[in-house]
Amino acid sequence: ARQHAQVTAHQPAITRDRKRVTIAANIGSVAEAKIAIKNGADGVGLLRTEFLYLNRTTAPTEEEQFAVYQAIAEVLDRRALIVRTLDIGGDKPLDYLGLRAESNPFLGKRGIRFCLEHQDIFKTQLRAILRASHGHQIKIMFPMVATVQEVQAAKAILAQVQTQLRQANIPFDESMQVGIMVETPSAVAIADQLATEIDFFSIGTNDLSQYVMAADRTNSQVAMLADALHPAILRSIEQTVQAAHSSGIWVGLCGELAADTLATPILVGLGLDELSLNSQAIPMVKRAVSELSTVEAEAIAQRALKLDSANRVRELVSSFYTNEE
Ligand code: PEP
Ligand code: MG
Repeated sequence: ARQHAQVTAHQPAITRDRKRVTIAANIGSVAEAKIAIKNGADGVGLLRTEFLYLNRTTAPTEEEQFAVYQAIAEVLDRRALIVRTLDIGGDKPLDYLGLRAESNPFLGKRGIRFCLEHQDIFKTQLRAILRASHGHQIKIMFPMVATVQEVQAAKAILAQVQTQLRQANIPFDESMQVGIMVETPSAVAIADQLATEIDFFSIGTNDLSQYVMAADRTNSQVAMLADALHPAILRSIEQTVQAAHSSGIWVGLCGELAADTLATPILVGLGLDELSLNSQAIPMVKRAVSELSTVEAEAIAQRALKLDSANRVRELVSSFYTNEE
């Protein structure tokens, strides 16, 4: 059974029964895009754009952003690049953005909530992303969505920017996919409704875990509760995948969980189409996928959903790996 393990990181990750799982990279700079390709990434599943806005006194211009998005797209050379719009909030106060410290920043005005209130900053970023999409495979993704109306508002602003570009004869990819992060319990609960608005989901288990477990991921006294392998999170992932596939859209996962090979059988078994993770872990996760069959992965996932703790889930997958050897 282990003969199938002879994959190199630069080949696609395909299960023993021939299901392909896209293994993409999470990056936050042009340099990291190069590392991602070196490590065999099939694309970029999450470009965190916050780095463009931090450690400065004015917002990055459209030209500045365009240059960075284009440089990354060129490094990727036809592979897909998912650009996440600014996901900033009161945990990183920035004077020029008018961001004030909040007593509960993770429950505050961050991500899409912030961008919908600062449309000048949002539109500048959307223009830069759209312009970079010309001749490249770029997709756009909105973070921290909790309601259908936020997605509709963000899409309306995107449509305005597209109209302006058309009028100015500035080319962009007219068929660019638009997706959202599923990282709030609300988004999971209404995933069926959200799925009708967009082209794809990407599940953000870092935030989803802290919100589902009501445990601040930066508070060491409770952070251990926000364990993404807890069945409460796994059930949220399952619900999201089911809603996506029922609507005919694809669904990825871009939290740290995607880099944990103890999670790989479960994530493949739940039906995720893409895993996006830090580049260092790509070869390991590709190998883990290639050693699985979807039938056994589905059986493990179904058993994991019925357990009552993250540690029991770890024991389940560990014993699966031990018995395989
Ligand atoms: C997540 O929340 O899982 C995620 C990938 O986004 P970030 O860690 O940047 O919040
Ligand atoms: Mg997040």
